[in-house]
Amino acid sequence: MAALTVTHLVKRFTGGVIGVDDVSLTVHEGAFTALVGPSGCGKTTMLRMVAGLEEPTSGAVRIGARDVTWLPPRDRDVAMVFQNYALYPHLTVRENIAFPLTVRRTAAVEVTRRVRQAAELLDIDGLLDRKPAQLSGGQRQRAALARAIVREPALFLFDEPLSNLDAQVRAQTRAELVALHKRLGATILYVTHDQVEAMTMAQRVAVMALGRVLQEAPPMALYRDPASLGVARFIGSPSINTVAGRATGTRFEGALSCDTRVAPCADAVLAVRPEHLVLEPAMDAAAAVVTLVEPLGPESLVRVRLQGGEDLVARVAGEAAWRMGDAVGVRVVPGQGLCFRAADGARLA
Ligand code: ATP
Repeated sequence: MAALTVTHLVKRFTGGVIGVDDVSLTVHEGAFTALVGPSGCGKTTMLRMVAGLEEPTSGAVRIGARDVTWLPPRDRDVAMVFQNYALYPHLTVRENIAFPLTVRRTAAVEVTRRVRQAAELLDIDGLLDRKPAQLSGGQRQRAALARAIVREPALFLFDEPLSNLDAQVRAQTRAELVALHKRLGATILYVTHDQVEAMTMAQRVAVMALGRVLQEAPPMALYRDPASLGVARFIGSPSINTVAGRATGTRFEGALSCDTRVAPCADAVLAVRPEHLVLEPAMDAAAAVVTLVEPLGPESLVRVRLQGGEDLVARVAGEAAWRMGDAVGVRVVPGQGLCFRAADGARLA
């Protein structure tokens, strides 16, 4: 295993479209980093440049001590796992898994050993004689993973590998991948548009937008302490609530108000996580009307509309005491309001 270091990487496509705009990022040896962001933000382009499938316009890619920026994919020692599995339909699972080794003319005994080991690790050793068409989606994805593992690469690259799986298999495969990462001590760069996937699996998450990395940090640091409104909005489900107003230095004043000691700003945005809104009988807090109650079992989401028309969502434990049409007061849990400058979304210090 090796570290991945990307420095000032730029990809400008013919026609002038900028896919990746000056990204620097390090994935330490043995670490699992997820690259997330909305569609078109440059995740796949980044991954393809690391894999050697796309030439950068400028910048450098290092794997361990080697500068691989201009090396072809086969000389980079990376294994890639895609959304569509890319298994050969005419080969058995065994032959598919063995493929990267047979093309490298690995000795037959060694091929057999590594295929068995990978298949056992992924619990598909009973399926080795089937063709891909005779497997479920989850089993196909595990065969593709086994094929990546047998290579014992310096770096694993994943491009939305779970997108084709249904919700239950996906949740299970997520847990399996985390366990696999631990066992292999693998260095992983994992691309997904699903922030839940990134948050639950990766040790660090890089949030991209418009070709740039907005912030790179451990998942909970991004959640609790986002550096910009873009990150605050992308991380968390349901999305963080936002209202416009002004920061006075000691308070935020707007459709919602709360004490907060940040730099004064006449045109600011207050952002509050759903679990940091408190609903109470309508009295002196910002008055609102309940528009929808969504029971989820252990918690409920209560959607409310403030007098000024702003829609907010609050997360409450268990079953909500509120019903549609109820008048409620809305308060921010002390110390939990995040303030940003409206002009550029930067966090107010
Ligand atoms: P998605 O989640 O939808 O796959 P992404 O974050 O992976 O999106 P990329 O596929 O990396 O995004 O694309 C980044 C930007 O570069 C987009 O604006 C896209 O339209 C553009 N782009 C990608 N490939 C090319 C190409 N070959 N020629 C021109 N523009 C491209």
